Amino acid sequence: MNCDIAIVGGGLAGASLAVALAPLGYDIKVIEAVPYKAVEQPSYDDRTLALSHSSCRILSGIGLWEMLQADATAIRKIYITELARPGRVVLDSAEMGLTQFGHVVEARRFGAAVTSLLEKTGNIEVISPATVKNIEIGGPTASLSLESAGGSEVLQARLVVAADGANSFIRDYLKIPTEKRDYGQTAVICNITPEIFHEGRAFECLTDTGPFAVLPHTGERCGLVWSVATETATEILDLDDETFLARAQVRFGDQLGSFLKAGQRTAYPLKLVRASEDVRERLVILGNAAHAIHPIGAQGFNLALRDAAVLAEILADDDLGDPGETGLLNTYSSWRQQDQRGTIAASDGMTRLFSNPSPFAAGLRTTGLIAHAVSPMLRRYSAIKAMGYRGRVPRLALGELLRPV
Ligand SMILES: Cc1cc2nc3c(=O)[nH]c(=O)nc-3n(C[C@H](O)[C@H](O)[C@H](O)COP(=O)(O)OP(=O)(O)OC[C@H]3O[C@@H](n4cnc5c(N)ncnc54)[C@H](O)[C@@H]3O)c2cc1C
Repeated sequence: MNCDIAIVGGGLAGASLAVALAPLGYDIKVIEAVPYKAVEQPSYDDRTLALSHSSCRILSGIGLWEMLQADATAIRKIYITELARPGRVVLDSAEMGLTQFGHVVEARRFGAAVTSLLEKTGNIEVISPATVKNIEIGGPTASLSLESAGGSEVLQARLVVAADGANSFIRDYLKIPTEKRDYGQTAVICNITPEIFHEGRAFECLTDTGPFAVLPHTGERCGLVWSVATETATEILDLDDETFLARAQVRFGDQLGSFLKAGQRTAYPLKLVRASEDVRERLVILGNAAHAIHPIGAQGFNLALRDAAVLAEILADDDLGDPGETGLLNTYSSWRQQDQRGTIAASDGMTRLFSNPSPFAAGLRTTGLIAHAVSPMLRRYSAIKAMGYRGRVPRLALGELLRPV
């Protein structure tokens, strides 16, 4: 079996890349271990994803946004505080002449949209359930050994994209040095219904065990991401709804009135995973396989989407040349350095700063919050970064198409 591009992992990052590459005309295969519609699909679960301004533009340019729009909730204002400390920052999209900073979409909803687009696209074949058991690189193609219910087969591809998540088999099989750091924090997520309508407001209260974030969601709901010390996560998961809501309310206060209802809770242990290389001969490492970051700034998938937009742009400009050509892959890697480094440093730096108990770190945090509260220029600077405009911006994120029609 042959193809131009094999994408291993059809989660948020891999599937989005496949959709972005489809109009270029390459023959693409997506190899996914867990079928899209399976309840246990790890990428398309109940998580609420805050999609940045630039991500929504990218999704629009690749034809996904129109499928998501009806179930997306605009983020118009962001309130940032630190638990039990002075200072509150309000980022207001209107202050920047915008209608919103981005939108919130459920990962499961994203999965349904991207899956139906993949199924409709003639030059994409999804092979699932199937896993990659071996990879050999060298010469004009890379060779992947796949295992599925039907047995084993070999797939030759001119470019392999490893989008197989934070525990990437391909990255580890190729012994690509990778930094892995456990934050000792676990995000407990669920939907909640507060008494007062959110009106497009997102709230992030930063604490020493990570953020307590309340995101605007569809209906009357909000998406809750409550980051706790890992050793207390099981206890919080096991609480009955009433006690859980009462505890959450103590953290959050009454900004949205009483919390009335809670949905099903899920926990995610939080780690930093950063591969030291994002390209090798005939290989790109994408998404969580390349960089899994703390959700403190809600940037993980947004960053991956910008990586995908850049890769698609470079391949589009090459006009159906060899997609695994080393020069192209090196161009991709150097283009992405600034954004990747900046975004990872911001998320890791914030997580460490807020979990640091020293009086110096506390002073720095309060100064940072107060500086943002009083300076419109600083707020604008931070908002632009959070909206996904850092370093050289790909055409799709500027609202342009990959190729003129
Ligand atoms: C609590 C929480 C909240 C978050 N909120 C946000 C947010 O608001 N905004 C944001 O931008 N990001 C957010 N993120 C980050 C976001 O979820 C990740 O960036 C995103 O899931 C990465 O997608 P991925 O496709 O790279 O990896 P994954 O989602 O892990 O998908 C990997 C896929 O590869 C498949 N796979 C694995 N191994 C193999 C194999 N050997 N062969 C074939 N297939 C394989 C898996 O089945 C899976 O489908 C959040 C993360 C967490 C934990």
